[in-house]
Amino acid sequence: MALKILEDCIICGKCEPICPTEAIFLGEDIYEIDADKCVECIGYFDEPQCHAVCPVDVIIRIENDTD
Ligand code: SF4
Ligand code: SF4
Repeated sequence: MALKILEDCIICGKCEPICPTEAIFLGEDIYEIDADKCVECIGYFDEPQCHAVCPVDVIIRIENDTD
């Protein structure tokens, strides 16, 4: 269970500070989510906060992703 940031990220930086598990970081080109750290905000918030704040809606839920 984790969320993933798509290539259309505009690097606004809004998602990084609101992640309760510090799973979001600036990668080489765009912000990225460490799937091992992302808990989908369960236990912290009612919904994934990164998805809620992203202005261009490029954060999606992935399931059984083997990347
Ligand atoms: S869903 Fe929550 S825990 Fe996962 S990356 Fe987004 S803000 Fe962080
Ligand atoms: S909030 Fe959305 S556009 Fe902004 S850095 Fe995060 S993923 Fe990229």
